[in-house]
Amino acid sequence: MNIRDKILIVEDERSITNFLRTILVSNDYDVIVASSGAEAYSMITSHCPDLIVLDLGLPDIDGLQIIKSVREWTLLPIVVVSARAHERDKVQALDLGADDYITKPFGAGELLARIRTAIRHTRTGLANETIATTGKFKAGDLEIDYDKHQVLVNGVNANLTQNEYKIIGLLGKCAGKVLTYDYIIKELWGPGTKGNNQSLRVHMANIRRKIEKTPPSRSISLPRSVSATAWSRAIELLPDT
Ligand code: CA
Repeated sequence: MNIRDKILIVEDERSITNFLRTILVSNDYDVIVASSGAEAYSMITSHCPDLIVLDLGLPDIDGLQIIKSVREWTLLPIVVVSARAHERDKVQALDLGADDYITKPFGAGELLARIRTAIRHTRTGLANETIATTGKFKAGDLEIDYDKHQVLVNGVNANLTQNEYKIIGLLGKCAGKVLTYDYIIKELWGPGTKGNNQSLRVHMANIRRKIEKTPPSRSISLPRSVSATAWSRAIELLPDT
């Protein structure tokens, strides 16, 4: 199973958005688009992107302000793509926490290389309780091994089915967010899927049973970090059986 990285393009010029989208989609990224700062904020919290490609000149909010706000709560990688070529602007963006800065016009190869690097740095530079689709996610006694597609509790394989793994993999990837049933269903089974809360509830009940019964710990000790708050909340939301 291949979970594709999702990139949020924040850009108000349609021609550039289309150019970026074409490059990214043809290189196997999922792409979502925001054409204003306000829309960007809402999509960051609701869609859990893996990286943001950010234009600085937006109609409502300066891109620098977006970098500053996003950095207050997440290390989500940000690659600035801007027409502002002054060194001062680059320095400011990087100081505020942007991972990279590309000046327009730019080539597709350069953009892709910088995106790959930014995602790789974020994943390897973080400790546990991080957003990841490769490597490992740890929260208390629970470990998701994204390379082996396994979930371990205290080092013991919880033997999840593929669907159960997909659900818990998504929860781990979106640690720090509260996810709705509809969002989970659409993410896992595609936008055309008719929402079926009942089937998701059954899967979640099974996951809960498996990860809580695996000895020696009866239940997951919930992580303490703020970034993993919603992870614990998501687990709490799993229905009792
Ligand atoms: Ca612009």
